Amino acid sequence: MRPADDGKPSGGPTRMCVACRKRFPKSSLRRHVLADDAGGLVPDPRATMPGRGHYLCANPECAEKFSKYSVRPRRRRGGQGE
Ligand SMILES: [Zn+2]
Repeated sequence: MRPADDGKPSGGPTRMCVACRKRFPKSSLRRHVLADDAGGLVPDPRATMPGRGHYLCANPECAEKFSKYSVRPRRRRGGQGE
């Protein structure tokens, strides 16, 4: 019998939390996707949205970091407006 904590979580894919950069089982992470419409990352609980996923673990500190993390599209439409 091996201890569970040997660096390889048994079973299932893993993803990296964008805040703490640790790896977790994908099923325990919350997926977010960069949406142009929203101008940032939006939750994607069903993992059905296209685009690159950004994963966040359950750590409250990560949630806080993540709120500041918000990737902003560097798209300026000819200067100031709206
Ligand atoms: Zn995290």
